[in-house]
Amino acid sequence: MNKAKIVIAGAGYGGMNAAVTLSKKLGANDASITLVNKHDYHYQTTWLHEPAAGSMEPDRARVKISSLLNTNRVNFVEDEVVEVKKEDKKIILKNGELDYDYLVVALGATAETFGIPGVHEHAFTKWTLDGARQVKEHIELKFADYNNVLDRTEGVLTFVVAGAGFTGIEFIGELSERAPELCKRYDVPREAVRMYVVEAAPSALPGFDPELVEYGMNLLESRGVEFKINTPIKEVTASGVIVGEGEEINADTIVWATGVRGNPVIEKSGFEANRGRVKVEPDLRAPGHDDVFIIGDCALIINEEANRPYPPTAQIATQMAKTTAKNIESLLKGSSNLEAFKFNNQGTVASLGGKEAIGVVGSRKIYGGTASFMKKMIDNKALLTVGGPMLALKKGKFPL
Ligand SMILES: Cc1cc2nc3c(=O)[nH]c(=O)nc-3n(C[C@H](O)[C@H](O)[C@H](O)COP(=O)(O)OP(=O)(O)OC[C@H]3O[C@@H](n4cnc5c(N)ncnc54)[C@H](O)[C@@H]3O)c2cc1C
Repeated sequence: MNKAKIVIAGAGYGGMNAAVTLSKKLGANDASITLVNKHDYHYQTTWLHEPAAGSMEPDRARVKISSLLNTNRVNFVEDEVVEVKKEDKKIILKNGELDYDYLVVALGATAETFGIPGVHEHAFTKWTLDGARQVKEHIELKFADYNNVLDRTEGVLTFVVAGAGFTGIEFIGELSERAPELCKRYDVPREAVRMYVVEAAPSALPGFDPELVEYGMNLLESRGVEFKINTPIKEVTASGVIVGEGEEINADTIVWATGVRGNPVIEKSGFEANRGRVKVEPDLRAPGHDDVFIIGDCALIINEEANRPYPPTAQIATQMAKTTAKNIESLLKGSSNLEAFKFNNQGTVASLGGKEAIGVVGSRKIYGGTASFMKKMIDNKALLTVGGPMLALKKGKFPL
């Protein structure tokens, strides 16, 4: 009998953990496992605000996929997924195609622009390792420009972060912490740097504990960050952003962090989706497609307590990977009794740059050094889960 073919698309938190878990659960005779990813490295998406702001070397946030896998058990293909042909049980790649019996789609997310004009043309939207490198280079170029451009425009050192969710706050936390060092290095007066966070919702970090939000905003304001809350961005232009009732903020740097939608491959492949995310069945399969699991930022599941979707996070993607691996194992054993996914919320911590962070762990609110310690522990645990103690020691965040 032919071995079942398992294909995993995407090697982020969801895909990488699915591949590692499946390779441990299944014997060589049970199934062949293929992991396909755009690059030959896995990166820590949750760390990207650091290389983007220049406070971490980009290399530190990535690791070769082949070093994480048992390559006798998992075949790695470096290629870009273009489309899933569900009826033919195959995925189309830029340079070929792969047949599957079971497919795990874990292709992550892309920026949500809400149709606001000019975003793709004038803002940095890519939360990938390449995207982070681009933002970092641009920021340094702007500091270098300051004492060189003859017609020094108002916006040369104005940085606008669109969105005060976790990504936007973590990024401005890093940038505001780093700004004094950049000013010193490029002989720029501190007053020349303006940093804005513009948010359409009535508060920063919507849904997060108000006391923690206040702590975070006060801290960031003390580093020179200006918040414009309840202020929708109407348009992004070559010279800045138009906000509220038509006010223009001149800025040479606009970093987009207003939330995400599922990878475009989802919609291209004809899955029924809401902002590119598929409302999956409790066992994480796509409705009507018993051989396709969708996990991570491409999946949407409802938090019954809050009656709204869980926000897409690395934590949930990693847990979904484990459930998916278990369910594929059951299917291979001929069982149709699959496990329903249940999210086990282990807390949320947002870094604010330097030794500062805010978070909720269990029912406890944490601030400052304690929260920063917790954040590093969480980051190290993610490395431990996917690559074991050697990876955690090599790339982990120490001292805690
Ligand atoms: C700056 C930042 C900070 C964050 N902080 C936190 C946090 O503190 N805690 C938390 O839980 N979550 C956080 N998140 C969210 C978290 O990173 C995502 O929810 C998580 O990465 C989703 O995992 P995933 O496996 O779905 O996608 P990803 O981890 O993004 O992986 C997707 C993979 O698919 C690959 N890929 C994409 N398209 C293709 C294609 N067409 N073909 C082949 N490969 C492709 C990508 O290269 C990538 O390797 C943060 C996100 C950002 C951007």
